[in-house]
Amino acid sequence: MGKEKFSITGHGACQEVGRSAFVVDFGEKFLLDYGVKLNVEEVQYPSEITEHVKAAIISHAHLDHSGLLPYFYKNSECLSFMTEATLQLADILWKDSIKIAEFEGLAPKYSKQEIERTHRYNFVVPYKKQVRLGHDLSLEFFDAGHILGSALTKISCREESFLYTGDFKVVETQLHLGADMDVGKVDYLMIESTYGDREQKDRKLEERAFCESVQSTVERGGWAIVPVLAIGRSQEVIDILSKYNLDAPIYFDGMGKAVSEVYFQHPDLVKDPKGLKKALNSVEWVQGRQGRAKAMKSPGIIVSTSGMMKGGPVINYLKKVINDPRSKIHLTSYQAEGTPGRMLLDNGKIPNPDTGLAEKVGCRYEKFEFSAHPSQSEMIRAIKKWGPKEIFMVHGDKKVMEVFNKKIKDETGIKSTSVLLGKKIEF
Ligand SMILES: [Zn+2]
Ligand SMILES: [Zn+2]
Repeated sequence: MGKEKFSITGHGACQEVGRSAFVVDFGEKFLLDYGVKLNVEEVQYPSEITEHVKAAIISHAHLDHSGLLPYFYKNSECLSFMTEATLQLADILWKDSIKIAEFEGLAPKYSKQEIERTHRYNFVVPYKKQVRLGHDLSLEFFDAGHILGSALTKISCREESFLYTGDFKVVETQLHLGADMDVGKVDYLMIESTYGDREQKDRKLEERAFCESVQSTVERGGWAIVPVLAIGRSQEVIDILSKYNLDAPIYFDGMGKAVSEVYFQHPDLVKDPKGLKKALNSVEWVQGRQGRAKAMKSPGIIVSTSGMMKGGPVINYLKKVINDPRSKIHLTSYQAEGTPGRMLLDNGKIPNPDTGLAEKVGCRYEKFEFSAHPSQSEMIRAIKKWGPKEIFMVHGDKKVMEVFNKKIKDETGIKSTSVLLGKKIEF
């Protein structure tokens, strides 16, 4: 008898970054991630999951991986698996998505009741603990080094094993030690490809350039605006800024407090928990209109969500600085296609917060790379270590994946394929 066929069906994050969703079949079907994609105009969702799945597995809390899970629980009664930190952080983001939708006058995709339902079906799984998924099937999470609670997901089926990286980071960052690479045998690898076409700049040099730019912006009499992702990047940026002892007040406007509490609850998952706590306690937390007015009274540093400037409190500050040549926008994360941040980098324009029309900005702007994703060489090293028989690429722009695909072939000779939307790959 030949080997039983496994398969992956792409429902999102196929030749794009955002709305991760895959159904994997190992005799029983599982949903791997269920996220959304935030564009300039709209939110994009994964294609409909019509298959019956036995469980949902969420790699980490970022909205492009977890954002639609409560919607899934409108009609599902299966279990979901994720780490405790992922559940705590995702819960904050889910509740916030409802608020944002209501604020924008849109119908939220799910309600608080569905978030509660999601909690009821959730099963929290620590790192390095095997959980039985079914007959001859088990799940194990390993620290992915990407954000708090992020996991590499290993599914073992009899003698064979499949690893889904989710978003991961091999080398250490300001906050985390890097992924736990000792995952054992890997036959099939589904790998993110965000930066599959390039090497990132040296982190320490980038941090210094960033802090110097922030400082000189304030000295010029402007505001240093730092759009950040609510989870991971905001804590990291604050940690970096506070270690450089800059001579200016740092304001933080976003979901920071609740998220920071989750960080404080998991000191074992953070590289320097004491340092982080000190940094987070040293910033001024902005609340409401009055807090914002205070932050904009005299030049300073404003760290605010969202990271790609698609909504979030950062919009309030953009209004003020968009035409101020002394001020500068410091982008600090990946800017997905179709987001205002990407528009700024590509064309020097962003949608005017008042009119919504794309407008050339009069302030300065620059992108700094503090990526929580691996460089091409980090990924090639990971692939060589794990030595899979076959590789499936997800979570990357099409052009990036073409370059990455060639590099994988040249360096390792392992067969690699892009997972495509609505297409099933058997292996
Ligand atoms: Zn992520
Ligand atoms: Zn992602």
